[in-house]
Amino acid sequence: MGGHDQTLEPFLWRAENIYPDREVVARTHEGTRRTTYAEYGERTRQLANALEGAGVSEGDRVGTFCWNHTRHFETYFGVPNMGAQVHTINPLLPDKHIQYIVEDAEDRVLFVDPSLAEKLAGAYDREAFASVEQFVVMGSDAPDLPIEPLTDYGSFVGDQPPSYEWPSLSSDQPAGMCYTSGTTGKPKGVEYSQDMMWSHTMSILTPQGLGIEDSDVLMPVVPMFHVNAWGLPFAATAAGAKQVFPGPVPEPADIARLIEEEDVTISAGVPTVWLGLLEYLEDHDVDLSTLQSVVIGGAAAPKAVIEQFDDLGVEVVHAWGMTEMSPVGTVANLKYDLRDAPYETQLEKQGKQGLIVPGLEFKVVDDDGTELAWDGEEFGELLVRGPWVTTEYHERPEANETDFEGSWLRTGDIVTVDEDGYIEIVDRADDVIKSGGEWISSQELENAIMAHDDVTEAAVIGVPHERWQERPVAMIVTPEDVDREALTGELQAMLKEEYPKWWLPDGFEFIDEIPKTATGKFSKKDLREQYAGQDLLEEDAPEEAAPAEDD
Ligand code: AMP
Repeated sequence: MGGHDQTLEPFLWRAENIYPDREVVARTHEGTRRTTYAEYGERTRQLANALEGAGVSEGDRVGTFCWNHTRHFETYFGVPNMGAQVHTINPLLPDKHIQYIVEDAEDRVLFVDPSLAEKLAGAYDREAFASVEQFVVMGSDAPDLPIEPLTDYGSFVGDQPPSYEWPSLSSDQPAGMCYTSGTTGKPKGVEYSQDMMWSHTMSILTPQGLGIEDSDVLMPVVPMFHVNAWGLPFAATAAGAKQVFPGPVPEPADIARLIEEEDVTISAGVPTVWLGLLEYLEDHDVDLSTLQSVVIGGAAAPKAVIEQFDDLGVEVVHAWGMTEMSPVGTVANLKYDLRDAPYETQLEKQGKQGLIVPGLEFKVVDDDGTELAWDGEEFGELLVRGPWVTTEYHERPEANETDFEGSWLRTGDIVTVDEDGYIEIVDRADDVIKSGGEWISSQELENAIMAHDDVTEAAVIGVPHERWQERPVAMIVTPEDVDREALTGELQAMLKEEYPKWWLPDGFEFIDEIPKTATGKFSKKDLREQYAGQDLLEEDAPEEAAPAEDD
């Protein structure tokens, strides 16, 4: 009955027309690049013309392999507004995952950052990349690389006309795509329709969500390949907020400088980012007076981080979400009747994953599917549903069988809910490892380790780590006569061939046997409990244990 479907286009239209001079700023290798929403809108239409010229039409997918910057942001509206799908690819993944993802998504055009071009060329495989008809480097010249046909962004978009008639799209038109590697096995594609992205934007805009306003200066440190930087660039555009993109692999010094220079009011990232900034602040004088809040998600926000930011006058907004949820599901805002509560009570609530955002529903169930009480004690699996929660993966019937129950998504997170409705994650149903906000598949590492002739059994578990939250440690059973030192070296060399540095276990522990469940499977829960508190990390975690890369 409404006059228009729920699509992203009106958000851009509003920013262009109501806030034409509001800035979009990016840190680049050549310094700070400034543009406005008026110019930005034109660029998105130039991009649409260029893509159309390259043969992209409604329903096609366009891949990006990029950090956070304005050109990447141009694809955020330029691609979905023309009816195509913007598919952000995580460049930190192992090569074989990247190949799988490109092949599965059948991207027709692939944008790549100059600093990531070599990484992409390393993962390039003619067969897996067969769908890609054009590679575009997001720089002024195309480097000499064995991926083709290759052009540069300036040549691709430069001479295109700045006018383009956006088509009238329906709510269910696919608009975005992102892969999750959360569980074991191959990454799973999640597709976002126009109305999923629209409704997610509307919810996080509200004060009950993240409360973004036109006076805000928003800097997403969370990479744009992580579920569209948690959807923040869409919300900031809808609000008419200034946006600041921190560019490739921002160091704490870059983040601090951008906050100071651009008057950032709200930023967002995984805990590792903020631990790094807090450490930097110990020795550096940084003016954080404009910064009102930092959104922390992707992994649990440590209470100490919430307290330290509090002391600096910055509110931590703890949020939880999933790729399958576009991604925001809960925000640990204080309820109206807790705003005068003792500090300890407030801290306890802010340390939880929070309250479900407006528009979603949840339930917590035990193994039999019985709903559990909200008493802060009973724990079970969290199920969620709502307009921006997917109900299926892209062409993964087996995962669709296990991960959904009708309209409900099984999150795999084991939680309690307190009397006030605050959800707290206490465990995960599966054994995946999240290091610095990025997934490491324990099962893949185990399979690789067990392929060695001298290994009888191996289990890889995540052990707590102050900076990266978790790091992998391999627990290995061998026959008695095996030279363990030599074996460790061989395993390290073998894994290095296949996986990025940040996937490699920081410890190799030799044990007599791996505890088993009643059905004979490895019980990593028992293993984790058995070795809890022991110092299993032999190696120092690599500097780039994620999300940074050595480019
Ligand atoms: P992803 O799909 O990569 O966004 O990962 C989603 C998963 O990350 C969730 O199911 C949680 O296990 C974990 N996660 C996300 N946010 C938080 C948080 N604030 N606290 C604890 N775990 C989180």
